[in-house]
Amino acid sequence: MIDAGKPGRTIEEALRKIGADINTLSGVLITHEHSDHISGAGVMARKYHLPLYATAATWRAMEGKIGRIPPEMRREITAGKDFWLGDIGVVPFSIPHDAADPVGFRLWGGSTSISTATDLGHFADSVYREIAGSSLVLLESNHDPDMLRANPHYSPLLKKRILGDHGHLSNEDCSRALLKLIAAGTENLILGHLSGENNTPTLARHVSELALSREGLRSGTDVQVSVALRDQVGRVYIIRGKGAQA
Ligand SMILES: [Zn+2]
Ligand SMILES: [Zn+2]
Repeated sequence: MIDAGKPGRTIEEALRKIGADINTLSGVLITHEHSDHISGAGVMARKYHLPLYATAATWRAMEGKIGRIPPEMRREITAGKDFWLGDIGVVPFSIPHDAADPVGFRLWGGSTSISTATDLGHFADSVYREIAGSSLVLLESNHDPDMLRANPHYSPLLKKRILGDHGHLSNEDCSRALLKLIAAGTENLILGHLSGENNTPTLARHVSELALSREGLRSGTDVQVSVALRDQVGRVYIIRGKGAQA
């Protein structure tokens, strides 16, 4: 599992909906210490006995936020240093975000890989190099900049943070990144980490599909693009050695 930003019970229920048993998981890979990524992590370690994998700086930053973690459930990882989790090869890589030591993950099963890259202030070349060629990528499509600027509930400081180089990826930036990834061989894309206030699933999808159509590509035929909803279980992809299948 990558991140645990929901209560344990919600996670357990979501897994059950896709026919997965939480007790068969090998661990939780933590990207960074922001609460939408770790609020359920302590429960994962204590109740379900899943080891938590995080960088040293992320451990320091999340300590005190997730309760006491049994020492045997504590694993330290380093950006750029691959490791095995069962038969999955895991590659943590640095991402531009305003956290202690945030990472994305590329997961290898045989010759096929999938990647997650959310919480990106910008689509850095280094991130592109890390995930290019993955058969499936979960990429951030966080906000519509106009909706964000017009949002009366967000302070000017928060807006600046989100729009900044170490904040979050806008729909437009995501759509540009998408084209680069498709050109490098990615066939399945999931738009994720959508803001609940500054975006809608329809808008995120529309911006990406518009960018695709300008290149003569169609979602559903040339590439698969889906949107990860905030409170619903999404499409299930099974990695079968040669490419991901929905
Ligand atoms: Zn974050
Ligand atoms: Zn986040």
